[in-house]
Amino acid sequence: MDQSAGDDPEEAKSVRRIYLDNSATTAVAPEVFEAMRPYLTENYGNASSIHWYGQQAKAAAEKAREQVARLLNARASEIVFTSGGTESDNAAIRGIVEASRAEKKHVVTTVIEHHAVLYTCKALEKRGVEVTYVRVGPGGAVDPADIERALRPETVLITVMHANNELGTIQPLEAIGRIARERDIYFHTDAVQSVGKIPVGVEQLGVDLLSLSAHKLHGPKGVGALYVRKGTILRPLLYGGHDDRDRRPGTENVPGMVGLGKAAELAMAHLEDTAARVGTLRDRLERSIVERVPQVSVNGDPAHRLPTTSNLRFDYIEGEGFVIAMDLRGVACSTGAACSSGSVEPSHVLSAIGLKPEQARSSVRFSLGRFNTPEDIDATLEILPAVVERLRAVSPHYKSAAVGEKGLGVRD
Ligand SMILES: *Cc1c(COP(=O)(O)O)cnc(C)c1O
Repeated sequence: MDQSAGDDPEEAKSVRRIYLDNSATTAVAPEVFEAMRPYLTENYGNASSIHWYGQQAKAAAEKAREQVARLLNARASEIVFTSGGTESDNAAIRGIVEASRAEKKHVVTTVIEHHAVLYTCKALEKRGVEVTYVRVGPGGAVDPADIERALRPETVLITVMHANNELGTIQPLEAIGRIARERDIYFHTDAVQSVGKIPVGVEQLGVDLLSLSAHKLHGPKGVGALYVRKGTILRPLLYGGHDDRDRRPGTENVPGMVGLGKAAELAMAHLEDTAARVGTLRDRLERSIVERVPQVSVNGDPAHRLPTTSNLRFDYIEGEGFVIAMDLRGVACSTGAACSSGSVEPSHVLSAIGLKPEQARSSVRFSLGRFNTPEDIDATLEILPAVVERLRAVSPHYKSAAVGEKGLGVRD
């Protein structure tokens, strides 16, 4: 019998590596690394110290704050540095809810949020906060009218992500922002996936709070930011000294901030290039797969999504098996949310757009970034059809389906 996917260790050793999992994390850009280096070596001061070392660190942190603010079209004073997207989401949602003195509190969100938002909402529910999880359409987008219908007099916060991490679907934030403003309700967005890939302006979107994370835009891991509109009162998550303007205590992660600042500056410079060049690569990858491989469908809404993401459903294969087989041949992709790898539960996002569990499990995400080349796409396309064919050849469902096509039964 034919050997299973690329189990030859010699082959694995010499394999050319292609990274198509940029929604999980990205490579640190060389310029980012260089910008951070002095703050890990000679300029190691504590940004709260008054001596030369401290002043160097302080100046670098403030410059980074400006760089992040510019990317969002916000003011530097509205940027709070955090440890990443997860903390930013927690700080925004818990910060607003816990600062509210109302007796009854209600939050409106969607069913397809990242777990950093969903689990924060679940934790608040245990403490008596009511949460409405608004459903999405088959493309993965929420209808602003459904958000409006979910609002109650006691709604203190609307939190809707900007672009979904699994599908890339972009949510109609401007319309939701107008609704929030009319009703005077705080509006938070998890923009971790969209920042650096598409224009993100806090005024245009009408948000009061916005989460972003450095490692999703070629910055370092473990640092992010929360945009907090001037005048918004949050209850802090942490208490302590050395505050980031009384909002986030702890000795500042100056190298991380500098890395995020540089990553933001580079993202801004590359914004058009990402949309055009990377979008073209993504489209070619997707179109070629659909042309060359039978029974493949695109999940989500191709007309309203990030230029970097393609979520495909390969009928009769297990996404996990596909990811492993592709990895053995050097291509890194994903079954969706990195945190659901190894779990048997199908993705909550794919379930929410109406996929059956077996359809969700046969789905795979390719996510591109600005370091991908046309050669990466060529090499992936060379490998992929044979991988799908091999996996289907050993799938009992595929065999019975093939029989079905010959007229002996109905394919599911
Ligand atoms: C990655 C991600 C997060 C979490 O960010 P971390 O910096 O890894 O904590 C939150 N939301 C979305 C949409 C993400 O993709």
